[in-house]
Amino acid sequence: MRVSASSWYELYDPSECARRVSLIAAGVQGAEPGAYEVVLEELGRRHESAYLATLEPAIRIAPGTDDQRMAATLEAIHSSAQVIYQPYFKTNLTVEGENVALVGNPDFLVLTNAGYVIRDAKLARHVSQDEMPQVYRQLQTYGFLFETLVGQAAGLQVYDGLGTLQDVSYEGADAFRAALAQLVRLRRSPLDFYEPVGWSKCQTCPFKSTCWPEAEARRDVSLVYGVSQEMAKSLHEAGIVTIEDLARADENGMLPLVPYRFGNKVRTIGKAAAALTLSARALVEGREVHIALPVIPPSANFVSFDLEGVPIPAMPEETIYLWGIQVFGVNPGPYQGITSDFEEGGDRRGWQRFLEAMAVIFDAHGDIPLVVYSSYEATHVRLYLNRHGDWNGVGARVLRNLWDMLPAIRNAVALPLYSYSLKQVELYVGFQRTQEEFGGSWSIAQYFRALESQDPATRNTILNEILTYNAEDLQATIRVFEWLRGLQVNP
Ligand code: SF4
Repeated sequence: MRVSASSWYELYDPSECARRVSLIAAGVQGAEPGAYEVVLEELGRRHESAYLATLEPAIRIAPGTDDQRMAATLEAIHSSAQVIYQPYFKTNLTVEGENVALVGNPDFLVLTNAGYVIRDAKLARHVSQDEMPQVYRQLQTYGFLFETLVGQAAGLQVYDGLGTLQDVSYEGADAFRAALAQLVRLRRSPLDFYEPVGWSKCQTCPFKSTCWPEAEARRDVSLVYGVSQEMAKSLHEAGIVTIEDLARADENGMLPLVPYRFGNKVRTIGKAAAALTLSARALVEGREVHIALPVIPPSANFVSFDLEGVPIPAMPEETIYLWGIQVFGVNPGPYQGITSDFEEGGDRRGWQRFLEAMAVIFDAHGDIPLVVYSSYEATHVRLYLNRHGDWNGVGARVLRNLWDMLPAIRNAVALPLYSYSLKQVELYVGFQRTQEEFGGSWSIAQYFRALESQDPATRNTILNEILTYNAEDLQATIRVFEWLRGLQVNP
């Protein structure tokens, strides 16, 4: 069996899932990477090349067989080369009775006063074991290979997306072998072990089209909105296996007592039992189940508010490139898609234009509620207040007037849906978009295409598509809002 340092991505990327490892080992074909993944790959290559340029002159390990590449690497190390680009390591091990060829191909080996340091260039900003276990495990693999083949320890570092070096400590050969044994066991597992699905866990996984229909066919309890991965495993053990089982479960009986893992702790389902059975009932009956009258701020007018952001390498947080607002209600207004420009200082100018537009709206409507869906807008308005400051108190006023519709929906009604994301709820209430392709990842990929393009016409076409997507997000928010408000009089 061949295991490479990047094999850990099977287990951890885009989400942690044991089944993905088994599916790949069984030869099941996953979907091809989407536009977003392709953009990230390209950005990663550029990040690595830019860093290489700062380390030149470097010894390059030429393509060849495993043995040729490793011999060239060891020769460069023994001749104390200052920088070795794309070194190559391979060793054979017996793990769980299996012959394993373990290989690793880090980006750089750099000679320092303390000896060699293995460095990988990553776009990520946080590379701790909890936040990026795939990166952590990849570095551990390099550390183990170097120690085994060179006979001494190497330092481990990530050159991160902000251009800083982050140290990763080597956990030692025993801990590495234990983790490797787990990966080998997963590769050999038959495919019939239980693995819950999850909306965010599976959404961008290449095997979604394999696992999701299977889970639907067996009516798996993990499909129910609000059932976490650990809850699903515990419910299975307690004999609550299907959506129907959960819908029938007594919310005052054994269901609240079911224990499940929550981080390092163990919790019981407790008061969440009522909401879970309602969500299951909504799915079984194929209709919404009303809980309470929706609570909506009293106002004649509202602002639909939605942001589009991108993770820019070398920026600590996302950059908002489009601030979308539209007044609706008794005195509706036009869509305003306020963009930051591509030139130096464009980020600040975009924020300033947004504040100016909001000042006009506040002048006309007073403290008008801004309807958002989830916490993204609040997080990023706070971020921009810190990054560029406020203007006449308008940013702080925006923050005070944000109203998140998602909790209001959850408190009012259980929907026959697996996810309460805007894209799912808008479909449920009958909203239709004009664009075939849309979504957060799609818009990020499009933004980078626009950024790359030297042709103003192409750039405008792409930006207009993103503006249409954002305008339809605002329309979808308004449509869902009107549906929710309708439940106040017609539950
Ligand atoms: S689709 Fe979901 S369950 Fe299947 S391999 Fe991917 S993350 Fe795991």
